[in-house]
Amino acid sequence: MIEIRHNWTKKEILEIYNKPLMELLYDAATVHRKYHDPNTVQVSTLLSIKTGGCPEDCGYCPQAARYHTSIKGNDLMTVQQVKAQALRAKAFGSSRVCMGAAWRNVKNGQEFDEVLEMVRTINKLDMEVCCTLGMITENQAHRLAEAGLFAYNHNLDSSEEYYKEVISTRGYQDRLDTIDNVRKTNVTVCSGGIIGMGEKVEDRAGMLVALTTLNPQPESVPINALVAVEGTPMENEKPVEIWEMIRMVATTRIVMPETQVRLSAGRTDMTREGQAMCFFAGANSIFAGDKLLTTPNPDVNEDMEMFKMLGLNPQKPFIRKMQPETVEAEDSQYKSLDEKPKWTRPEHIIDRNEEAKIKAKKIE
Ligand code: SF4
Repeated sequence: MIEIRHNWTKKEILEIYNKPLMELLYDAATVHRKYHDPNTVQVSTLLSIKTGGCPEDCGYCPQAARYHTSIKGNDLMTVQQVKAQALRAKAFGSSRVCMGAAWRNVKNGQEFDEVLEMVRTINKLDMEVCCTLGMITENQAHRLAEAGLFAYNHNLDSSEEYYKEVISTRGYQDRLDTIDNVRKTNVTVCSGGIIGMGEKVEDRAGMLVALTTLNPQPESVPINALVAVEGTPMENEKPVEIWEMIRMVATTRIVMPETQVRLSAGRTDMTREGQAMCFFAGANSIFAGDKLLTTPNPDVNEDMEMFKMLGLNPQKPFIRKMQPETVEAEDSQYKSLDEKPKWTRPEHIIDRNEEAKIKAKKIE
């Protein structure tokens, strides 16, 4: 096995990223085979349990209330609706359900209690449950863990430097603090980022430095290609080339050998050949379902056809870590606290975010 390093430098990561492609692919595939079955890929299903109306200003996101996009907002789904979708996903070979809510941070109260019930319900279906709900406190992380949460997603998005060009309503340290809160429980960490937001290759390497420094490294790292949605500040960013995606996946695989590398947003623009190269380079998870929160995603049947063609098998749940037990609400050790966490709000000016906001005001 290869040593898991937490001291990668940006220079070393750039050297890997910029290797001749065939060499990079060979190196990444070699690491991949040492830690993972190369013919197994996890199928995860992303459910938007509360859509739109988000107070944050993430420049890539059509769910931010301040931009004018075609996204229709939805209140929190019911537990029954979530259960029905999870059962459907399971029937298609999905072993993980990730529930996303367009919130800045979790607020204690009825809605969070309902999310906890969703976690309990899906865990009882013997599927891995992941949530992405924004920033959370240690107490909230414990409450999710007790409910049976398997993973918490909180992306770093980019390097610390470039993050300031993407979001002004919260700081990078808030992201790290949330990950730290999750790490105080048995819940695994899912954290990655997006390429194609106008960042430099150095920023991609910078994000990988930040992720590899975490000890332990995240169990799951989603690599997203920006889906440039009309009305968002990034609507004019040019599409990510497949070669950039392959390089990013391969580099991630080499510097985080044990991690599940997720091929996430942007797959609709990738050919099967392109996706196959990403799997060869070490990607071992996809998100299935016709929507990724709000942006388009390949149809599940198409994905299953691709799996058949490539001889890939969907990964069973809990192969890398045991299924957590669910504690019922009445037996919980962690009660809701009257917390007032001090999440930051830098509110520096990001020109393209301001322009998109002004444009939205003119339309509405
Ligand atoms: S990415 Fe999340 S936090 Fe940012 S605007 Fe979208 S829903 Fe809100």
